[in-house]
Amino acid sequence: MDRRKFLKVSGFASLSGLAVNGPLNAQDNTSEKIKRFALIIDMKKCRTQQNCSDCIQACHKVHNVPDIKNKKHEIKWIWKEPFKNAFPTQSHEYISNEEKNTPNIVLCNHCDSPPCVAVCPTQATFKRESDGIVMMDFHRCIGCRYCMVACPYGSRSFNWEEAKPYIKEINDNFPVRTKGVVEKCDLCAERVETGQIPACVEACKANAIIFGDLKDPNSEVRKILNTTDTIRRKPHLHTLPNVYYIM
Ligand code: SF4
Repeated sequence: MDRRKFLKVSGFASLSGLAVNGPLNAQDNTSEKIKRFALIIDMKKCRTQQNCSDCIQACHKVHNVPDIKNKKHEIKWIWKEPFKNAFPTQSHEYISNEEKNTPNIVLCNHCDSPPCVAVCPTQATFKRESDGIVMMDFHRCIGCRYCMVACPYGSRSFNWEEAKPYIKEINDNFPVRTKGVVEKCDLCAERVETGQIPACVEACKANAIIFGDLKDPNSEVRKILNTTDTIRRKPHLHTLPNVYYIM
């Protein structure tokens, strides 16, 4: 690493708890401890709850996601997309009206081959060896937005404004981002580390979002994937998403 790059990376190195499990201590993991967290979103169950947005509200509340109405400035960690946008290559003119007309829950896919990580010049975004979560260290982000261009799922948002005025009730246990920083879903890394499940999973009254470890053959996610047909978003791009859908 040349001196300029070293200074850039070390200058933005964060002492924040969110960075603790980052690449710097990845070598501490033994293969037995390594997990690969995934979500399965059962859209059949989700569709039974018309107009429900409990998962979105829970996620955005716990993560201090500002509620900015201006579409050009909006911040989203988990949101709804029509089928043709969420699954453009799996869409066709004869899909059922139910699928066509019900928006799908989408979020960061915590890809196994994440292009956003590859392009980040400061390592502000990185994939954790320990569990596969694609993380953001807000302190290292210089707001270049290369990651936003690289992500083919639109999973990242840029803070064009200070977030605080747009947050109704601030959760003091999670950082509020500043203007000029990119952000996205962190798969509730801060909750998972304390044995909790992601906020979206907890909030879903239809049990339509299932969270678990793909490395554990006895996990619910593995059992579902073994027995049920699932799809992933934009598989032709080979980013290998860890979010699966039952349609
Ligand atoms: Fe990165 Fe986008 Fe994949 Fe999330 S969905 S890991 S932001 S490329």
